[in-house]
Amino acid sequence: MSDKMQELWGIPESQGLDALFIVSRANQRYLEGFTGADCFMLASREGNYLIADSRYTEMAESECRSASVVPHRAPNPPLQDVVARLAREGGLRKIGFERDKLIWGLYDDIAKALEGAGAELVPASSLVERVRARKTADEAGLIEAACGIADKALDGVLPVIKAGISELDLKTELDYRIRTGGAEDGAFDTMVLFGARPSQPHANSRRDVRLKAGDFILIDYGACHDGYRSDTTRTFVFGKASDEQKLAYKTVLKSQEASLEKVFPGSNGRDINDLALGIIRGAGLPAFEYGIGHGVGLEIHEEPFMRQNTDVILEAGMVVTIEPGTYQPGWGGIRIEDTVLVTPDGHKVFTHFPKELMEL
Ligand code: ZN
Ligand code: ZN
Repeated sequence: MSDKMQELWGIPESQGLDALFIVSRANQRYLEGFTGADCFMLASREGNYLIADSRYTEMAESECRSASVVPHRAPNPPLQDVVARLAREGGLRKIGFERDKLIWGLYDDIAKALEGAGAELVPASSLVERVRARKTADEAGLIEAACGIADKALDGVLPVIKAGISELDLKTELDYRIRTGGAEDGAFDTMVLFGARPSQPHANSRRDVRLKAGDFILIDYGACHDGYRSDTTRTFVFGKASDEQKLAYKTVLKSQEASLEKVFPGSNGRDINDLALGIIRGAGLPAFEYGIGHGVGLEIHEEPFMRQNTDVILEAGMVVTIEPGTYQPGWGGIRIEDTVLVTPDGHKVFTHFPKELMEL
């Protein structure tokens, strides 16, 4: 059994389970190296099965580290019959499912088929995700490489930033540099927002919004390298920044740097969040309401989630973001975000694009 599988079956909450039914692509990729979509995995203590339709069987055969590939769909039996047969043959009685990922229709079909096999589906939360939270050195290396590609791409796109360019055109230019710089894809849908629009922490870039003097430029983006992602946000001002913009920027930067100092093993995400909020509120600015940061890896948002009223203890090997901000409708928004590795004696920042306020 691989180290990852051993760790998975060692989690106390997985003790009562004979198997885990996995729909998450990231979890399938993590456990077996499979990069396809629309497939299903039954992970048991005796071995793993990758249940694939004919579009993916060849890919699954070549990519899976240890799983047996089992076909489903015409002319083969439907998914629920395959799962029920595997449960019957393997003596699997309690099969955990990803309660926040399995859609109701599939759950219902499989639960009914399992009844006939003397087995049942039981909800399980974030088991593979908890193993994924601590990265191996290889995984951290891929994330660091993704961060390097992202840094270079943003640097390369600065000369393109001119009055009149649209959010969507700048986003397209940045995406192009992310891919030509060595990434297979962006880490998520790149966000380029001008003027007052960064007051929306997440929004879609638009073709009809064009850059003008005094605008904020908020860019939240990342690269995906061999499946692993980076996450960076930088905020600029186009032309001369006002005193108000400068002061708010200084406060967010102070909040971000103070939070980074608290990234080390044993640190509580809740405390880091409160510290960051305190600095922003203390300066009389509206505080961000989402959490101070999240894990990054095969997915852009993954465990651990650092937010208000949630205890989460950082461990060496975790890769997280630190991303405080301030947002005010009609005025704009500022966010500064880095991707950081928790090391045994502190942390290592993977994103190196400068953070001092740049007036472009
Ligand atoms: Zn981000
Ligand atoms: Zn983020």
